[in-house]
Amino acid sequence: MSILVTGGAGYIGSHTAVELLQAGYDVVIVDNLSNARADVIDRIEKITGRRPAFYHASCADPKELERIFSRHTIDAVIHFAGFKAVGESCRKPLQYYRNNLDSTLCLLEAMERFGCRRLVFSSSATVYGMNNPVPYVETMPALSSSSPYGWTKVMNERILTDYAAVHPDASVILLRYFNPIGGHASGLLGDDPNGIPNNLMPYVCRVAAGQLEKLTIFGNDYPTPDGTCLRDYLHVVDLAKGHLRALDYAGTHPGVEAINLGTGKSVSVLELVRAFQNATGVRVPYVMGPRRDGDLPEVWADCSKAKRLLGWQTELDMEEMCRSAWNFVKRHEA
Ligand code: UDP
Repeated sequence: MSILVTGGAGYIGSHTAVELLQAGYDVVIVDNLSNARADVIDRIEKITGRRPAFYHASCADPKELERIFSRHTIDAVIHFAGFKAVGESCRKPLQYYRNNLDSTLCLLEAMERFGCRRLVFSSSATVYGMNNPVPYVETMPALSSSSPYGWTKVMNERILTDYAAVHPDASVILLRYFNPIGGHASGLLGDDPNGIPNNLMPYVCRVAAGQLEKLTIFGNDYPTPDGTCLRDYLHVVDLAKGHLRALDYAGTHPGVEAINLGTGKSVSVLELVRAFQNATGVRVPYVMGPRRDGDLPEVWADCSKAKRLLGWQTELDMEEMCRSAWNFVKRHEA
C-alpha cells in the first residue's frame, strides 16, 4: 500500500515516514524543503533500510501532484505540508493563508481526480481557540484560533469536512496535536528549525548546546502551580505511531473524525527545563521574562477518544523525550 506523505521531510512527517516504512508501507514524500533538509530522506533510508520516493516540489503545485498521482497508485495521504511558525504567520498572514490553504485544496483536487479517498490531516490543539476550558475534548467548539497559522488549521479542517460531506466514501481524520517534542531513538531525526527556534524544546536544546546564551521563560505569573504555563508534551515517535492507527481506522470508517493526540498530562515550562537537566546532565541557564502574546496558561488534551477509536496512547515518558531531543542535537552538531 502506497502512502503519500506531504511535508514528509519535516519534523513530524519524517518520523511518520519511518514508522510507515517499518510497518511495510510504500512511502512517497512530497516536500518543497522550505523548512526541511534534503538529507532527511537519506536519514530515513539509513534508519529503515528502505528509501521513500521523494519529490522536491510544492504540494500547492497541481502539475507536480498530477505527476505524482500518475506515477504512483496512492492509497491514502497524510498531509503535513504547511508553514507552521505562529509568530511569522502574524507578520505574513497572506503567505500563510495562500500556502496552507492552497496546498490542501490542490491535494484534494488531485485526490478527487485519482479516486483517492483516505486522508489524515495534521491539525493542532490551536483550533480550540482561547475560550475552551482544559482538558480539551473533541466535542468542544474548535472554530477559532489566535494566529493566522492557527486559523489555517481551523479553515483546513472546515475544507476537509465539507469535502467529506459530498464524498460519502471518503474518510478524513483530523489529528489535533498537542506539543510534540523529542526525536528518533537513532539520533538521526529531530526538530531542526531554521534560525532561532520559537518552540520551547528546540530553544532549550540550543541553550544546552551553548549556541544560545539562555532561555527566557515567558511569564511566571500565570495562575498555575509554579506560575509558568502548562502544556501537554508528547514524544514525536508516539505521535507518528498515532498516524498509522488513524490510517487503519480511516480504511474502514468513512466520514470525518477529529481526534486529539496528547498524553492527557500537563507539564510546566519549569518542570520541562528541570526534566531536561535531569535527563541529560546538562545545565540550561534561564531567566524569567514577560508573557508572550497569545499564550494560554494551560493547554492539555482529553485523549480518551484516541484510545477508544484508535487504541492509541503514548508510551514514552518525559525523560525519553528530553534525552532523544538532546541526542539529536548533539549528533547533529558533530
Ligand atoms: N516558552 C518559553 N520560552 C521560549 C519558548 C516557549 O517560555 O523560548 C513557553 C511558552 O510560553 C509556552 C511553552 O513554552 O508556555 C510552550 O511553547 P511552544 O512555543 O513550544 O508551544 P505552544 O504551546 O506555544 O504552541
